Amino acid sequence: MPQYDFVVAGAGLVGLSAALTLTRQGLKGLLFDQGFAPSGASATSQVLGLDRSPRVSAINPVSVNFLIQLGVDPAFFDQAGCSVSGMTVWDGDGSGELSMPSAGYIVENHRLLDALHGVMCQPLIADALTQQFEVGIVDVQQDDAMVAVTLTTGETLETRLLIGADGSGSRTRDLLGIRSVAWRYDQTALVCVSETALPHQSIARQSFTPEGPLAFLPLPEPNHSVLVWSSTQAQAQLQSSNQEFAAMVSAHSVRALGQVTAIGARAVFPLQQQHAIRYAKGRSVLVGDAAHSIHPLAGQGLNLGFADVVGLSQAIENLRLDQRRPLSDALRRYEAQRRPINLRMTAATDLLKRVFDPPSPLLRLARSTGMRWLQDQTRLKQALSLAAAGHL
Ligand SMILES: Cc1cc2nc3c(=O)[nH]c(=O)nc-3n(C[C@H](O)[C@H](O)[C@H](O)COP(=O)(O)OP(=O)(O)OC[C@H]3O[C@@H](n4cnc5c(N)ncnc54)[C@H](O)[C@@H]3O)c2cc1C
Repeated sequence: MPQYDFVVAGAGLVGLSAALTLTRQGLKGLLFDQGFAPSGASATSQVLGLDRSPRVSAINPVSVNFLIQLGVDPAFFDQAGCSVSGMTVWDGDGSGELSMPSAGYIVENHRLLDALHGVMCQPLIADALTQQFEVGIVDVQQDDAMVAVTLTTGETLETRLLIGADGSGSRTRDLLGIRSVAWRYDQTALVCVSETALPHQSIARQSFTPEGPLAFLPLPEPNHSVLVWSSTQAQAQLQSSNQEFAAMVSAHSVRALGQVTAIGARAVFPLQQQHAIRYAKGRSVLVGDAAHSIHPLAGQGLNLGFADVVGLSQAIENLRLDQRRPLSDALRRYEAQRRPINLRMTAATDLLKRVFDPPSPLLRLARSTGMRWLQDQTRLKQALSLAAAGHL
């Protein structure tokens, strides 16, 4: 008899939400991560006189509902994040602009992690879910009845279901022998907290600059945004002085947010698009970035990961109703449901990235004409808003 109903490798936002979801379904599990245990203390340092981190995510309304159902306090989003009321994108040279309504929240990743850890401490959940930190995965063996997972501690655990939620470099995916198709982008994401002369008015903005897309994601403070610049020049931008960098950003922010008046510490993240050729193998399955990672310009990677967890939990619930079916069948159904949706979003994001890459004059003309045309298409914009909100 396996010790656990499920084991989750990776306690990032997707792995945590998967472990919580299955525990809420009455299953007993283990969640482990190679990183340190959460200390309970906020992971931020003071940035521009604020307690803010530049690692934020745009969480769409479908994901917000999912997180509330998991047990995150509905008030958390207004207390910790910034509610988004609209989205504006424009061509860096000012030739085309598109605005549409939007919903959801910009939330710092570490605050959401803290909120999910808070739910995990609730007595019924804590009794059913074991957590281990500073522990990696070194081997996976599976047969029809169970999966044996060997950890870096040397311990081997037996489980009915293994979930790989260990991010884009997933070791679980490698150990399962699941290949993925990956391509690196010529851009690196540079993130930092910024202060601007004009208030953001709860609008998420993105300028398509010659170096790559530059997003301003509103923080709870009216003149503070997180800046995410997916740029071909990230190394030079990282090394420039605060004053030089503020001037570079101001050239793009000035039309909507005025001059950048202060810049916090900058950090960079390499960007790549990656997709596993399958999500399920035997009694094991991949979710979140372990299955797919996409360019951040559409702000959808984490939302897709949460939607994977919902799909997986439905597949497992259906299995309970029809106990004649094997688990591997349910996992394949999960893959059949989620992979086409994730591939569509991957393709759409990749297309957007290419259309807005440093363009030829002809492409720039077509693009700005397209933006101006779309700006007048109310119904099409409603459809786009719904897609961005997670109603795919
Ligand atoms: C700059 C930037 C901005 C973004 N903005 C948005 C946004 O606005 N909206 C959005 O939806 N998405 C956004 N994304 C994407 C989003 O951040 C990711 O899709 C999401 O964080 C993936 O979560 P995850 O839990 O699957 O993986 P991760 O966050 O990578 O977590 C993986 C976890 O697994 C652990 N781990 C790794 N290897 C092992 C191992 N061998 N054994 C055990 N544990 C292991 C790691 O320590 C980590 O805790 C952005 C990404 C970037 C880079």
